[in-house]
Amino acid sequence: MKKTVKKNPDFSTHTQAKVLISAVLIIFSLLVLIIYVYRGNPYFKSSVGHHKKLNEANHSLETIKQKTYQAHKEATKSAITIPPSYGRTVYVPILTYHYIGNNPNPADKARDYLSVPPDKFDEQMSYLSKNGYNAITLDTLDAGLMGKTTLPPKPVVLTFDDGYIDFYLNAFPILKKYRFHAVSFIPTGLMNQGFYLSWAQIKEMDRSGLISFEAHSVNHPNLTDLTPDQVKYQITESKKALEAQLGKPVNFFAYPYGASNEQIWQAVKSAGYVGALGTWYGITLSEGNILDWPRIKIPGNITIGDFAKKL
Ligand SMILES: [Zn+2]
Repeated sequence: MKKTVKKNPDFSTHTQAKVLISAVLIIFSLLVLIIYVYRGNPYFKSSVGHHKKLNEANHSLETIKQKTYQAHKEATKSAITIPPSYGRTVYVPILTYHYIGNNPNPADKARDYLSVPPDKFDEQMSYLSKNGYNAITLDTLDAGLMGKTTLPPKPVVLTFDDGYIDFYLNAFPILKKYRFHAVSFIPTGLMNQGFYLSWAQIKEMDRSGLISFEAHSVNHPNLTDLTPDQVKYQITESKKALEAQLGKPVNFFAYPYGASNEQIWQAVKSAGYVGALGTWYGITLSEGNILDWPRIKIPGNITIGDFAKKL
């Protein structure tokens, strides 16, 4: 028997048109989704850059990628904006310290986390020294990133936030012992009082050539809570105050509490800074994220084994 395909006039006009429109809509939606993922999502962009590096690098970068992804997830939860990474890139650990001293109040667990006892700090610097690390300034790091200089082998940046007096009393002698350069972030309006550094101590350390001082706002507010004018004041006045005291350019800023967003990054750039540092975890430092470079927190109770793993 001969099979004949009977054309249904309704199907060929009405239903076929519907199927066609649906197909076009689905393809269009898929295209929009793909474009969004590739162009709109900063993490995806940085992880693509990351992936290229991974091919030519080694296993340890895979670990970094995992940790960066974790940090990204954490930061997303706490609504911290993480900048996309692109352009020239270097992989350098920037370590963050607060207090170098014994916790005066052991019941204060938060202070425990922020306080590295001097003997532990000495042990950590000794580890860096014996293992061939070179502590560099942020200006050297930037010059290395931009190809203006060659970074030394195993570069590391040691940063100390908040300008506490124990930096002068406890950290400075140990840094001198190992001839390690360090960066101190100063909330300029808080100096010369209570447990903060005096300007005389800051100037003495500056003259040693071992310590560079960079800005950390005027009085340490969370910048994301402020109006644009207040943000501008905190960013520009701290730069001016440090430059007036030390007579040299101040090129870097650290966000109090690591809190920033795109408007604040632009304010930092407009104020004439080269870059700024956050507190989110990572060692991928690029032109793309130079207004919010990641750092590695060194908690007070860390063992030397765990310290070594963080580098
Ligand atoms: Zn701080």
